[in-house]
Amino acid sequence: MTIKSHSLKINTERNFEIIDITSKINELIDIDEGIISIFSKHSTSAIVVNENESGLLKDLEFTLNNLITDKYSYSHDRIDNNAKSHLKSFLLSSSECLPVKNGKLDLGTWQSVFFIELDGPRRARTITLTMVGE
Ligand code: ZN
Repeated sequence: MTIKSHSLKINTERNFEIIDITSKINELIDIDEGIISIFSKHSTSAIVVNENESGLLKDLEFTLNNLITDKYSYSHDRIDNNAKSHLKSFLLSSSECLPVKNGKLDLGTWQSVFFIELDGPRRARTITLTMVGE
């Protein structure tokens, strides 16, 4: 059994942006079989698995913006003015742990791995990949 790690840097261009990172992760996998942890080192971003369908991705943005709206005032805005970005990140997840088979992510047919920017644009968002397997 071995443990391998890599990091992936992403520049984002919009305040809210969903980026499919499935192929980038597949390129960096260097175990044949095991598990991979995909972790974003930022508290205003997320890592999720879902379907890469453009309407659905718009629906996610719409839903998050309707749950966490400008109707309310948020305490964190007193110091940092990005409470909504953090709150959206709380509702999603900062990591996913996924199976690896034959050197690739073992996803379902309609599944992709996404990095979600919630407070962009930002330079060099860092995602850590940790693989355990053989
Ligand atoms: Zn903040």
